[in-house]
Amino acid sequence: MTSSSRALRRGLASLFLGLAAHALTGCAHLLPGAASPEGGSRGKPSTGWLAHGVRLPDRGPGFEALRTESEGGLHFGTDRVVGMVRRSARAMMRDGVAVPLKVGDLSGLRGGQVTRHHSHRNGRDVDLLYFTRDAASGRPVIAPGFIRYNRAGDSVGLATPLRFDLERNWRLVEALLQDPHAGVIRVFCASWIKAMLLDHARRIGAPGWLVERAELVLAQPGDSAPHDDHFHVRVACTPGERVLGCQDGGPLWPWLDKDWEKADATPMDDDALLALMEAIPPGFVHGPPDGISPSSAAPGKPDASYCERPAIELVCR
Ligand SMILES: [Zn+2]
Repeated sequence: MTSSSRALRRGLASLFLGLAAHALTGCAHLLPGAASPEGGSRGKPSTGWLAHGVRLPDRGPGFEALRTESEGGLHFGTDRVVGMVRRSARAMMRDGVAVPLKVGDLSGLRGGQVTRHHSHRNGRDVDLLYFTRDAASGRPVIAPGFIRYNRAGDSVGLATPLRFDLERNWRLVEALLQDPHAGVIRVFCASWIKAMLLDHARRIGAPGWLVERAELVLAQPGDSAPHDDHFHVRVACTPGERVLGCQDGGPLWPWLDKDWEKADATPMDDDALLALMEAIPPGFVHGPPDGISPSSAAPGKPDASYCERPAIELVCR
């Protein structure tokens, strides 16, 4: 059986389970992401929308939002991306990282066009600020915002200089890439940030397979700013989302196929479900934002621009 037909089978199975949940509970509209027959990411990251978004709270164990929702922050995503942020923040805490991970924008409740971003429209993109240290003392400090770093790892244009925290930023990359439920397809960052991280990983003897994954997944975007001030993380569509028209917007790495098997079996994140129930006003009608047709996210032809790095076998949709 080909990987695409396996993915389709899993997608249909996920859809069937979601429909069964709908029949049993009558409230599947409250179930986030892959657990809901209707929930999840639609279309492409730059043109799509988000059905039944899951809310990331302003703060939680090991993380806090750069902008709260009242300050204009975008806090909605699929359960997959919201779960990934929570798990990676917890992983950093377990490693003894005392400063919280600062989280930038995800998407709006229904997705669609947002200010500040070209993508971030279908709930699978999130910005994570770089961990940083005080340059003079070397102490870890909470990232005060989007701080740019030069090729030497020094902050640009700050009165009190900061240093790019190589150790903690690499640990964050490790947490993202080792999360079997996240399906990370891209971690955008500037080419010199990527080079610093990979040099560090090799110097400390990080596992070869992890360094190889990082070498593929870390990338400077070609169509926007170089990302010298934050990681932009994108996760793959789940098989269930893909059946409903989600398009990945990045390479489907060979190892993700196994990760999807595990992801399909992931129990629902209770915290995320509670946050969703708190966040959505009674009577809220779900659907695409104004100006976006649901049918515009129907499964389409593969976009050749998604196929990158042909040195390894990729599946592109
Ligand atoms: Zn971004």
